[in-house]
Amino acid sequence: MAEQFDYLVVGAGFAGSVLAERLAEDSGKTCLVVDRRDHIAGNAYDKVDSAGILIHAYGPHYFRTNSSKVVDYLSRFTDWHQVSYQVLVWTDGKYWQFPINLNTFEQYLGRPSTTEEMEATLAKWREPIANPKNSEEVVLSQVGRKFYEMFFKNYTKKQWQRDPAQLDASVCGRIPVRTNRDDRFVTDTFQALPKDGYTAMFERMLRHPRITVRLKTDYRELPQSTRYQKMIYTGMIDEYYNFSEGRLPYRSMRFEPETIQKEFFQPAMQVNYPNDHEYTRVVEIKHATGQKSAVTTIVREYPEDFAPGKEAYYPVPAPDSRALYEKYAAKAKAESNVTFRKVGDLSVLQYGSGRGDGIDRV
Ligand SMILES: Cc1cc2nc3c(=O)[nH]c(=O)nc-3n(C[C@H](O)[C@H](O)[C@H](O)COP(=O)(O)OP(=O)(O)OC[C@H]3O[C@@H](n4cnc5c(N)ncnc54)[C@H](O)[C@@H]3O)c2cc1C
Repeated sequence: MAEQFDYLVVGAGFAGSVLAERLAEDSGKTCLVVDRRDHIAGNAYDKVDSAGILIHAYGPHYFRTNSSKVVDYLSRFTDWHQVSYQVLVWTDGKYWQFPINLNTFEQYLGRPSTTEEMEATLAKWREPIANPKNSEEVVLSQVGRKFYEMFFKNYTKKQWQRDPAQLDASVCGRIPVRTNRDDRFVTDTFQALPKDGYTAMFERMLRHPRITVRLKTDYRELPQSTRYQKMIYTGMIDEYYNFSEGRLPYRSMRFEPETIQKEFFQPAMQVNYPNDHEYTRVVEIKHATGQKSAVTTIVREYPEDFAPGKEAYYPVPAPDSRALYEKYAAKAKAESNVTFRKVGDLSVLQYGSGRGDGIDRV
């Protein structure tokens, strides 16, 4: 039997779910939302594991925004749990405050210090690079070689399998360096997690009489009898075009959860391991969700090369990726019945889709 929709929305993540809800509620359109995974919420998907702990299945998603419009909109579908995202770094046999701030500097000195002393020291350590062109140069110009090697160099190599000198300055350049005691990971005015989790929030968003959701469904396998006027595509842009211009470089990840029989495993929500282990970080999201339980689940993250069959989590932010992405973006711009994410501003970091942009990789 033929089915008719105004919109086919490919992907039930943030982009697809919000657009479907807006089209259905605000414009009275009918939407078929498909996702080839067996769940909604895209990479923000969270679930309760067998130990009863809510975990973020595809890496931690730290919600933050400066937009009251975004908060007001999402608050229709969720209450919030306020949180301050805390990150530590483990290196040289101890935990370090991060992003680099006066506390980190004092740890390094092994004694109390002041903003003035830290500023004067950094002024000596900094390498004079007027216009940093890549991630190595940007860190050297901000904090010098010692902190670059302690905190950035090997973490970045492990994550991206590229030397920081081969990555855009933005990868490491956006990580703040502070000479006061502000150790906030991000500074947006609103930092909170959906109280019952992301998946519950998206369930409420998609529960609309004009929205039909089909999981485990690749849009390319929909029957001919499924008709729609327009498509919104939130998947990988190179895949949409059958890799006609070549494959965009992505990084994949392996997430290894482990339940531990104690209330907390580590002193903060996220601990980065730049110089130890094969994993980049250990996330104990329970610190952020505020869940009460006698046990905890941690997730270790192992960066992996992307290959067909794996999930493409991060576009590699480098000049060669940008050049290739722009070819796809030009094609996408010429489409009249398909809408892609971000095509307008050629955001290379997201490759026109919702891939993680690496900002959380600090
Ligand atoms: C490890 C990691 C950590 C992150 N942490 C944060 C964070 O802390 N804060 C933050 O703001 N952002 C974070 N992000 C980024 C965030 O995940 C994305 O910005 C967000 O998920 C984008 O939503 P989206 O709907 O565009 O894409 P996605 O969430 O990727 O959803 C796209 C969906 O499309 C589906 N799809 C693709 N192709 C097809 C097809 N052919 N047929 C059917 N379905 C298809 C996919 O299965 C997927 O579910 C992180 C990303 C990663 C990878």
